[in-house]
Amino acid sequence: MARIVMKFGGTSMAGSERIRRVANIVRRQQAAGHEVAVVVSAMAGETDRLVNFCREANPLYDPAEYDVVVASGEQVTAGLLAMTLQALGCQARSWLGWQLPVRTDDAHAKARIESIDCPEMLASMAAGEIAVIPGFQGLTQDNRVTTLGRGGSDTSAVAVAAAVKADRCDIYTDVDGVYTTDPRIVAKARKLQYVTYEEMLELASVGSKVLQTRSVSLAMKEGVRVQVLSSFIDDDATPADEIPGTMIVSDEELEGLDMERQLITGIAADKNEAKIILTRVPDRPGAVATIFGPLAAANINVDMIIQNVGRDKGETDVTFTVPSADLLRAQTLLEAQKEAIGFNRIITDGKVAKISVVGVGMKSHAGVASTMFRALADRGINIQAISTSEIKVSVLIDEDETELAVRVLHTAYGMDAED
Ligand code: ADP
Ligand code: ASP
Ligand code: MG
Repeated sequence: MARIVMKFGGTSMAGSERIRRVANIVRRQQAAGHEVAVVVSAMAGETDRLVNFCREANPLYDPAEYDVVVASGEQVTAGLLAMTLQALGCQARSWLGWQLPVRTDDAHAKARIESIDCPEMLASMAAGEIAVIPGFQGLTQDNRVTTLGRGGSDTSAVAVAAAVKADRCDIYTDVDGVYTTDPRIVAKARKLQYVTYEEMLELASVGSKVLQTRSVSLAMKEGVRVQVLSSFIDDDATPADEIPGTMIVSDEELEGLDMERQLITGIAADKNEAKIILTRVPDRPGAVATIFGPLAAANINVDMIIQNVGRDKGETDVTFTVPSADLLRAQTLLEAQKEAIGFNRIITDGKVAKISVVGVGMKSHAGVASTMFRALADRGINIQAISTSEIKVSVLIDEDETELAVRVLHTAYGMDAED
């Protein structure tokens, strides 16, 4: 007997028919003798709908009230799944974020889970009741509702798995695993049998939204076994957990599997960044600190940075990217600091995309970046900025060329699936 946490995303929970399918998958796990906790997302599109209501109510909405509104989508699906399981003859009940409770910090709309204390839920699971937990939501020390940032149900699932010391955390979604790139963009993407925590973390953080970044870092820290698999299987067909999805493993485990290591594991694209150029910034010590200090203080994450050299008279242009959602705020802040920074013009471009290639193989191989630059150049795709880490190379390009760039790179690194 194992203790299993199962998580179902928005597409899997969209409507009564799909919830019934989910309930059947859950029931089969319980019937196999396992203790089961299920974490659910809101129905697909529901969170976007709720966010829009907030914007309409007040463009400068209070994030604490935003959380009250957007957390509600998961409450609905948790109750519906518990009822559907009961209709199938299972014992089931919902445990809302405040009932467990899932304690978080007070960073509304992007809260971090601090602890999940759930002795009552564990006792009920041990007695054969299926626990259904709405993902995405938590509670501050002051008992205010919080949410964990978009895609946060993945993190809820991993946190619950760590809290109940689950043997496995199975993330059921609308694709049957982690692919070399988004299979909805590249038809020739290949499913990965294994991916390391480190690679998955990097892929998620550069835009592969199959798992929320935080869920991967939490799984890595807590040693949670995570598997990504599809909830779209035939009711009478093989149980989902017998269809291989993608297992996230440690580096050592992967070596033990004796797999042939590919140089590149995956490619991700992110259209949610915007570029800012400040022209004619004085080229002197402290200039860059004057630019990025206020942005950091305003909690705006700067990603890629280039400082051009070679302008006359000790001046330089500084180019960098920020999340698109923060572009307006960043621009306003920088304009307000124009005198202090001493730049001439601010130029912004929201129509850019960051394309990243990721793989632990590149730690020991040269030439990954040059293959990327050559392949893009051959298709006339211009690179506007570059950044690298030990296992990643990212470039910034025109947003319109995103799909083409991902396809070209997928072929250039020999990753295309055979027909
Ligand atoms: P859920 O609602 O189940 O959380 P998401 O929409 O958040 O599902 O994540 C699943 C989606 O992630 C897939 O439909 C796919 O389009 C996208 N995706 C992006 N990159 C990848 C990748 N490398 N492998 C698989 N799916 C990916
Ligand atoms: N419903 C939330 C969202 O759409 C959380 C999730 O689905 O993971 O972002
Ligand atoms: Mg998701």
